[in-house]
Amino acid sequence: MYLTPQTFKLFAVIGHPIKHSLSPLIHNYAIQKLKLNAFYTRFPLPSDINANDLRNFLIDSHLHGINITLPFKEKAYEICDEVETIAKNIGAINTIVKKSGKLYGYNTDAEGFWRCIQHLTPKHILILGAGGSARSIATILSHHNIAITIANRSSEKLQFFRTMAKTLSFIELSQTTNMAYDIIINTTSAGIDGKSLPLSKEILSNLLHHTNLAFDIMYHKDSLTPFCNLAQQCNVKSLDGKAMLVYQAAIAFLYFHELGGNSPLLSSIIEYMNEIIA
Ligand code: NDP
Repeated sequence: MYLTPQTFKLFAVIGHPIKHSLSPLIHNYAIQKLKLNAFYTRFPLPSDINANDLRNFLIDSHLHGINITLPFKEKAYEICDEVETIAKNIGAINTIVKKSGKLYGYNTDAEGFWRCIQHLTPKHILILGAGGSARSIATILSHHNIAITIANRSSEKLQFFRTMAKTLSFIELSQTTNMAYDIIINTTSAGIDGKSLPLSKEILSNLLHHTNLAFDIMYHKDSLTPFCNLAQQCNVKSLDGKAMLVYQAAIAFLYFHELGGNSPLLSSIIEYMNEIIA
């Protein structure tokens, strides 16, 4: 077969750092299982790239679809020609489909996250961190009328959440450690070094002792994240970000390969992706 960008589609995840990402592995496995003519790779882009250069890079490349991770989600939002509704509310995207030289943006983190916890019917959730992923999570939780408290190290990023959540600085949170939350979600990038926690061990342990589930949206390939490790020490059930990774990736996969928003293939794609990272 004569290969062109139309007959053989190229996809990538962009981020900084990016070498830890499991997206190439899970996308390529599903591509292979479904016998699609495509390949998924990764690009570590400079973290200070400006929006204009990012757009030019994506437009000039042969990429048909792009996943966006830390720290480019808000910048990617700015450069799209069209953005779906929930992504507009969030102000950040993690998926771009390129069609006829135009960039279409989606946020599959929100739906991917929701699929991980909806069966738990939580009433009050504490979110640690106020970056792009916290925006997705808080927006979908607020959409489902779940009470949210959100705490962050610095106060500037909390402004976005004021209409949908109770907002606290880490200092304020540490003064209210006897509060009980159904789920505590770590959306900070603190554990990326394999050892750091977003808050001191004492304060975090105190919070974890009053919750049913510690959910770290970060994941490490072969080990527990520091947040999940502490939850385990506190005898609290924990979940890392692999389930969310798979759900958001499977939804992005439907957009990338134009399989339709509610494709019956979704559960097979989720199954394949889970199989390869199990
Ligand atoms: P952002 O850069 O947008 O936000 C990072 C957040 O972490 C900010 O609130 C920042 O606080 C906080 N933070 C960073 N370092 C520390 C620290 N040492 N102590 C306390 N707080 C800290 O990142 P994203 O929201 O896009 O992503 C966050 C993490 O979630 C990443 O590890 C990413 O890989 C993961 N993720 C996983 C997904 C999945 O599918 N499993 C999907 C999306 C994200 P401040 O404002 O004070 O700087």
